[in-house]
Amino acid sequence: MENTEKSPVAFAMDTRQLQKVLQKMSLKGEVLVGIYHSHPTAPPIPSREDIAFAYYPEAAYLILSLSANKPELCCYRILQKQAFRLPFKLI
Ligand SMILES: [Zn+2]
Repeated sequence: MENTEKSPVAFAMDTRQLQKVLQKMSLKGEVLVGIYHSHPTAPPIPSREDIAFAYYPEAAYLILSLSANKPELCCYRILQKQAFRLPFKLI
């Protein structure tokens, strides 16, 4: 998905593009399991906006932070406007 905000500190998705992606996934029998984005200058913690616009409670929200010397990836479930950190393992 393209970031329609064109910003290093905020992101938004075009709803028509998102609907097309979800429709293509559905036709292939795929399901949405995760949504990721990066925080170029902030830690991998969901922002107020990340939580406010988290419309897919079934999805894992992955945030990659590039703010430190070493990239850090964290995973959350966002339910009822609250973020819960999930353990995960890269294989
Ligand atoms: Zn974010």
